[in-house]
Amino acid sequence: MIDLDKYGLGYLKMKPVNTWTDDDFTKLFDSFVSDNSAPIVDISFNNQNIEALLALSHCRQCGNCCKTSAIDGNNPSIIAGQEELKAIAKKTNTTYEQLSAKLVKHPMKKDALCISLPCMFYADGQCQIYDVSPKVCNTYPLTGVMNEDVSYVAINLGCDYGRDIYKWLLKGA
Ligand code: SF4
Ligand code: SF4
Repeated sequence: MIDLDKYGLGYLKMKPVNTWTDDDFTKLFDSFVSDNSAPIVDISFNNQNIEALLALSHCRQCGNCCKTSAIDGNNPSIIAGQEELKAIAKKTNTTYEQLSAKLVKHPMKKDALCISLPCMFYADGQCQIYDVSPKVCNTYPLTGVMNEDVSYVAINLGCDYGRDIYKWLLKGA
């Protein structure tokens, strides 16, 4: 349930979602972004669901998710696990240790590190390690959020790709 009052959009409660205007959706989506938050939907974060949701629209290839984060504008980074980092190290002709030394520890996950944004692997308008990029990059604008041992889908609304997907879900299409 979206707390529309929190965003000064209580009037939308009186309007069925399928009558919302583009402006209504934009106001809501902008509110999430200014709040540094992303709506969490009642869908499990698993490969099948992610694939189906991502197929609802398309990436505009703007590269913004490699440069900044809609979720934590103060500490923009992406999370990468040990195996992912080993693959990246191999791809970039360095060692896991040398690569890790450039990254920061994840505050909660012991074996994960964070690649600060703008990402060091973004150059010439594209990801230079695409085939070994961390899973979080491949599922963006969708991310997993744990709640009582279940991972749910959160939709980042910083780009039109995420907005299209969330709009589709809100409309119950
Ligand atoms: S996922 Fe979104 S932010 Fe990232 S490149 Fe695609 S459209 Fe841009
Ligand atoms: S690893 Fe590639 S896709 Fe992921 S943030 Fe860096 S440049 Fe973007």
